[in-house]
Parts: sequence; C-alpha cells; structure tokens
Amino acid sequence: MLINAVRISGRDDVARRMLFHEVVHGHQYAALGLETFVHEYISSVVAYRNYQPIPLEAVPTRRKIATC
Ligand SMILES: [Zn+2]
Repeated sequence: MLINAVRISGRDDVARRMLFHEVVHGHQYAALGLETFVHEYISSVVAYRNYQPIPLEAVPTRRKIATC
C-alpha cells in the first residue's frame, strides 16, 4: 500500500484511518511472522470467501471492534 505523507500530516480522516489500519497489519505481521501471517490471512479468506470478515481484518477495522 502506498501512503501519501502529505495527506497523513493533514486532517484527512480517511488517510489517517488507512494508516492506522496498515500499522495494525504491520504489528500482526511482526507478531506472527511472515509465514504464519500469510497462511492465516489466505486460509481465512478462502474459508470466508471474503477478506473483510476474517479475524486479521477485524482488529484494524474500527467498525468491527465496535460491534464486538
Ligand atoms: Zn486490512
């Protein structure tokens, strides 16, 4: 993902949410390691047939956290 630093430094809420989302994925990747992260992500997408409801997407998505 490419992040525009000019947008992040401003008051662009969408850009800040995207940055937060990707930073959480970065932490997931660091905690799980590449192989486990990719395996968990891909196998979940296959199981759910969609990437949005998978556990690795639930944490960095504020909307999903609010419904837990
Ligand atoms: Zn994501």
